[in-house]
Amino acid sequence: MKFRFKVPRIYKKLFPEIDHIKDDEQQFRAFAEAWQNVWPTAIVLMVLIAYVSSTINNWGLEIVKSVGEHVAQFIFILFCLPLFIVIDSAIHGGQIRRTIRIKINEAGTSMCIECGYLLEGIEGPACPECGNVPE
Ligand SMILES: [Zn+2]
Repeated sequence: MKFRFKVPRIYKKLFPEIDHIKDDEQQFRAFAEAWQNVWPTAIVLMVLIAYVSSTINNWGLEIVKSVGEHVAQFIFILFCLPLFIVIDSAIHGGQIRRTIRIKINEAGTSMCIECGYLLEGIEGPACPECGNVPE
């Protein structure tokens, strides 16, 4: 059976190193695990988006009148999702990157967890880019 879930494209743009994990399922698990760290902010942002969308009738937009309140809310929330990923990634970028790099290492590609330098074929434990020594 083919694994159905894919990492959203916008997320790959923000964290291109995730493509070092070749397997779709492993890649998605890394994405999901990175997101586990950021759920408190995610919930706050979602509540905020839901609240803002509930006031959509008061914005005086013609489109809200023509498509109806609920459809307009749905479109607004869909619109907010990429924005939401970008904001959350900006707040937790460092943490997300570390989690992804740990997963990349687990998937078999040797990468510095601090700076993302590829350590394939590098002699010795220290990263030549940032000097980090993995524990
Ligand atoms: Zn490094």
